Amino acid sequence: MAGEKKKVVVVGGGIAGSSIAYGLQNDADDSAVSVTESELTTDSGEVVPFDFLVITTGTTFSGPKTKVERIEDFEAKKKKIEDSDSILIIGGGPVGVELAGEIATDFPKKKLTLVQSGDRLIDFLGPKASDKAQKWLKNKGVEVILNDRVETDDLTPPNYVTKSGKQITADAHFVAVGKKLGKGWIEASPALKEKLNDEGRLQVEQTCQVAGFTNIFAAGDITDIKEIKQGYLAARHAAAVISNIKKLIKNPDEKKLSTYKPSEKAIGLVSLGRQEGVAQFPFATVGGWLPGKLKSKDLFVGQTRSSLGLKQKA
Ligand SMILES: Cc1cc2nc3c(=O)[nH]c(=O)nc-3n(C[C@H](O)[C@H](O)[C@H](O)COP(=O)(O)OP(=O)(O)OC[C@H]3O[C@@H](n4cnc5c(N)ncnc54)[C@H](O)[C@@H]3O)c2cc1C
Repeated sequence: MAGEKKKVVVVGGGIAGSSIAYGLQNDADDSAVSVTESELTTDSGEVVPFDFLVITTGTTFSGPKTKVERIEDFEAKKKKIEDSDSILIIGGGPVGVELAGEIATDFPKKKLTLVQSGDRLIDFLGPKASDKAQKWLKNKGVEVILNDRVETDDLTPPNYVTKSGKQITADAHFVAVGKKLGKGWIEASPALKEKLNDEGRLQVEQTCQVAGFTNIFAAGDITDIKEIKQGYLAARHAAAVISNIKKLIKNPDEKKLSTYKPSEKAIGLVSLGRQEGVAQFPFATVGGWLPGKLKSKDLFVGQTRSSLGLKQKA
């Protein structure tokens, strides 16, 4: 029917998903669900037909869901840190390193141990960035153990043992061993399953359409776009998806769709406490106040709020 709004279903409410839902709010009816094929089935068994589907289920999140529950969770974790004299962090990716940096900055007297299974920290970036992060942490008194691991199934303070047999004593621990890709529901969808590559990411065209589909798009970390997985790039994929869905809503036969070119010059940023950080630019990798100024002060909360049309917090 002329003028009837198209139904766009966005799966996943991270950076890419929320930007797309926000960008299309006046052009289509939006919905957020959990399992899909060409028709989408929610985990409560509801079948949701769609004109367009956008998959943005980058990584799974199994923690508290509501705002109140999340704030309670943050408070509990803050108390856990405050109540501990020594803390073990398992995992030296961005979560483990940023957490270690924040604790070392706000609680310099606490004994921190960071265990990383690989031979360098934040290995999604280059060795120079790893080196700078490790030096910064060591300067703050953090003990960094590389090439070793702590099994996460049965962790009880205060005694921990690494795989190589090293004993670590700590009042508390945090597990930061990497999130899982949000691909389980795609694997359960025969039509889409074959579009996952070996890493479990969805193969997309330059238009951000899932390979072989005209009305199914994907954006963000779940895609196989060859670049560092970063939120600001997920937002750029989202812009291409919004543009293309708007074009296809206007003209289903539109051939001139917007294309996304992978960023060969992506910037990787890892904060280290409130003022400093490590930044990998295409031309150089720097540590200190510059990346701190770019990210660490508000962790892009202000920018994310304005991109979603939310007021800045006072
Ligand atoms: C510690 C850390 C620091 C980072 N720093 C930066 C930075 O400084 N700058 C930057 O640009 N990027 C940064 N990143 C990367 C950035 O966070 C990711 O690239 C970005 O979040 C990807 O967005 P996304 O929307 O693709 O996926 P996600 O943010 O992972 O969102 C996916 C959402 O989908 C939901 N989901 C999963 N499965 C389903 C399902 N079946 N049904 C419904 N929902 C589902 C998940 O719960 C989640 O909410 C950082 C990441 C980490 C871990």
